[in-house]
Amino acid sequence: MMMSLVPKTSAMHRIETLPADVCSLIAAGEVIDSLAAVVRELAENALDAGATRISICVWPDRWRVRVADNGTGMDLENLQKCAGAHTTSKIHNSEDLWKITSLGFRGEALHSLAQLSRLEVCSRVSGEAGWRVFYNNLGEALETEPTAIAPGTIVTVDDLFGNWQARRGGLPTAAQQLRTVQLMVHHLALCHPGVMWQLEQNDRRWFTISPGANSHHILAQLLRDVKLQDLQYHQVELGQNQSVEIVIGLPDRCHRHRLDWLKFAVNGRLVKCGEIEQTLLTSFARTLPRDRYPICFVHLRISPEQIDWNRHPAKAEIYLHNMGEWQARISLGIAEALQLSNSHQSGAGQQKVGKLLKASEQKGGYVVNRSIEPATKESISERLQLRAVAQLHNTYILAEHPTGLWLIEQHIAHERVLYEEICERWQLINLEKPLILNQLTETQLENLQTIGIEVDTFGDQLWAARTAPEMLASRDDCADAILELSQGNLQAAQVATACRSAIRNGTPLSLAEMQILIERWQNTKNPRTCPHGRPIYLSLEETALSRFFRRHWVLGKSHGI
Ligand code: ADP
Ligand code: MG
Repeated sequence: MMMSLVPKTSAMHRIETLPADVCSLIAAGEVIDSLAAVVRELAENALDAGATRISICVWPDRWRVRVADNGTGMDLENLQKCAGAHTTSKIHNSEDLWKITSLGFRGEALHSLAQLSRLEVCSRVSGEAGWRVFYNNLGEALETEPTAIAPGTIVTVDDLFGNWQARRGGLPTAAQQLRTVQLMVHHLALCHPGVMWQLEQNDRRWFTISPGANSHHILAQLLRDVKLQDLQYHQVELGQNQSVEIVIGLPDRCHRHRLDWLKFAVNGRLVKCGEIEQTLLTSFARTLPRDRYPICFVHLRISPEQIDWNRHPAKAEIYLHNMGEWQARISLGIAEALQLSNSHQSGAGQQKVGKLLKASEQKGGYVVNRSIEPATKESISERLQLRAVAQLHNTYILAEHPTGLWLIEQHIAHERVLYEEICERWQLINLEKPLILNQLTETQLENLQTIGIEVDTFGDQLWAARTAPEMLASRDDCADAILELSQGNLQAAQVATACRSAIRNGTPLSLAEMQILIERWQNTKNPRTCPHGRPIYLSLEETALSRFFRRHWVLGKSHGI
């Protein structure tokens, strides 16, 4: 079971003013500095109230925002108190500060909004009457009247910064602010996938995000051109109600030209954390084309005492205790998500294929490995059973497996295998006969030295290399390879070595050789792409084949199949 981040009984929680000692412990900061901040604070309140439907309307020119939710609502007493200074129902004393499971806890947002705008809140607890309250600039209830609304809360902020023109002046254009609002809602939606979001801008429909079982379904809605199948979802239970949830863009299918989709959340909120970002980036090293960046969302749900929010008053930056351990868990999780066996065989899909094959194979005909069991957790984590059946154009290995068939490009599959081996044991050996190199620049010499290859002057514009990577040493083109290595850093050198040593396309392979290659390739850490980021295989899933061949047409008796 996942830890619930929403205090279920918040309706019963009384709003109280925080004692002065607690206020002094809370990192103080300007909560409301933009339209996006208004949306963030109100949406977070709606989430804390357990809402599953949140509708947000923004009128930037009127500096107006309205957020409506179907959460627990507030009774009249709480409603009249909610905009006072340091009033909150979420914590009550300094001990609670270390057990925070809600998004808010400082009791400052509504109060600041009362100061900075005209604030109105309508709210209704299920089974009771609904009320509308207007607040003065001190956050005191000014007018109260009954109102007919559905259970939940509607907060309207009007004329934000009307008396603080200087603050408006310092803000970006309306269009930019709207982009920030959108991004922020995207982030909240990823962290709270069970919520339906409806957004309007100047009374017009803007965008909606439908609820999904998990962040996988949300991410697929947020990125244009990225489909559900292009993403991989992976969840790891960490015990004690803790978990890490990972959604990655499969590196052979999607990536970004900017580093804008590397996102990390902790307990329902997107946060900045340099250490974790580094971990995420490293996990994708050498899986993407040059200058491309991964799509990755990681949501860590951990017990509150693991978190040190004090890095940043707006809770946007955090530090985790036991950082190394979380980093290790996350990179392991990503490594698992990058494996082949985890995709293609997602539960429902596999069962469907199983049935389909069974139905069409009862009468014989289609020869495919039939060992399809309904997907259990174990079978998902097992390796794919790939069987080499042919070589095409001396370049592609045709392999079949229980749910379809794959074309694997032999050269880059081998390159991936060798690259990972080389990284694990980059061995330089002494050459029997030194290799003579000419026309080396100063930088090339330095590069060779950094990589560890010994080079001595041999004559005018001539040098002798006395060591070389083991894999290249016995090759005829070793000198060329060393020149290549002199062009880059260690990682580039390793890629170049793997590329050179891998079997070329155009080389005939026996079935046995292909099978060995497939198995070694499947066991690599990043089987989807070569170290240059090219996709290694093309999959033709049985479901797609059966759709293409309209196999559902011929299941009837009349065709005798
Ligand atoms: P905080 O969220 O830090 O407690 P706020 O000023 O944002 O402080 O809100 C004050 C209190 O008002 C909350 O603790 C909560 O009890 C109540 N409240 C605010 N918004 C809502 C809402 N949308 N639904 C139910 N209660 C709300
Ligand atoms: Mg709040």
